[in-house]
Amino acid sequence: MNIYNEILEELSLYNAKLVLVSKTKPVDQILNFYDLGQRDFGENRVQEMAAKHEELPKDILWHQIGHLQKNKVKYIAPFVHLIHSVDSLDLLKEINKRAKSNNRTIDVLLQIKIALEDTKFGLSQEDCIFLLNNKELNTLQNIRICGLMGMATFTDDEDEIIREFKSLKDFHSKLKSEYFSDNDYFKELSMGMSSDYKLALREGATMVRIGSLIMGSR
Ligand SMILES: *Cc1c(COP(=O)(O)O)cnc(C)c1O
Repeated sequence: MNIYNEILEELSLYNAKLVLVSKTKPVDQILNFYDLGQRDFGENRVQEMAAKHEELPKDILWHQIGHLQKNKVKYIAPFVHLIHSVDSLDLLKEINKRAKSNNRTIDVLLQIKIALEDTKFGLSQEDCIFLLNNKELNTLQNIRICGLMGMATFTDDEDEIIREFKSLKDFHSKLKSEYFSDNDYFKELSMGMSSDYKLALREGATMVRIGSLIMGSR
């Protein structure tokens, strides 16, 4: 548990939040961290998150961090705290629809592609701006876009990782001033995992998503 406290201390210097990534980990291990006061947990599979939500205390804040298919939104819509991985208008519309039928607002982040790797998921900056210019967005009253999420290239090249985090931070600032200047909830920047969270904090992350470093390898 020492590393957990160390990381929390580090995060507090930056005013950043820990999303403890508990995917593949059993509920009793999650409860150990819950008992230490941890409330934010991240999962990447809808069914796994829904099952854990059923079993665990209801004041846990569940973060969907992995790719989300439209047809699975309904399973997490009643309780999910923040969806980090929104990468299309269609998905936003589905989240809005399910939020509405659950009589709630769902907070989301837009996932932006920053890595060199040819990943399938995430919006290019261009596509993100295209999405934000879509008039239909204004009709989605049951979602709030609270910021951006990104994953850096998996590499030992720290300069490359720093470049990618900087580009995401710059893009966040640009969107804040051009699209969200009059709203106070567009402020989150979810970046950094076990291998690169220190770099992410220095570049302005408000949330880091750490799994294996704290909960052990998967
Ligand atoms: C698994 C996962 C993490 C955590 O990865 P670790 O290397 O275990 O810290 C963070 N973000 C996303 C999107 C993930 O899928």
